[in-house]
Amino acid sequence: MDVAAINFAVKMNAIKVTFLGTGTSQGIPVIACNCLVCKSQNPKDNRTRSSIMISVGDKNIVVDTGPDFRLQMLRENVQNLRLFCLHMNTKIIFQVSMIFVRLIMFLNHP
Ligand SMILES: [Zn+2]
Repeated sequence: MDVAAINFAVKMNAIKVTFLGTGTSQGIPVIACNCLVCKSQNPKDNRTRSSIMISVGDKNIVVDTGPDFRLQMLRENVQNLRLFCLHMNTKIIFQVSMIFVRLIMFLNHP
C-alpha cells in the first residue's frame, strides 16, 4: 500500500467524500411514523438511505447503496461512476481500499 500517494492526494484536496445518504434502512422520514424527527420540517431530517461516494478527480466510487441510488446519483450529478458496492464488509473494505490505492497511483503516474 502506497501511503505516501494517499497522503499526497489528501493534501492536494484530490479526494472528496460525499455522504449520499445518512438515513436509516427505511430513510427519514419513515412512512406512517409520527415521531418528532419524521414530522420535522427541517430539511436535515429528510435523509435518504446510507451511502457514500469517494471521488478522485472525475472518478467516483460509490460504497453501499440501496433503493435511493438513482435519486442520489441525479442529485449529485454523477457523470463518471467507476465502481459501486452494494454492501460493505471487511473483505470489500480491503478490496475497495486496494482499488483506491491503485487509482491514486494511476492518477499520480506521469
Ligand atoms: Zn419517525
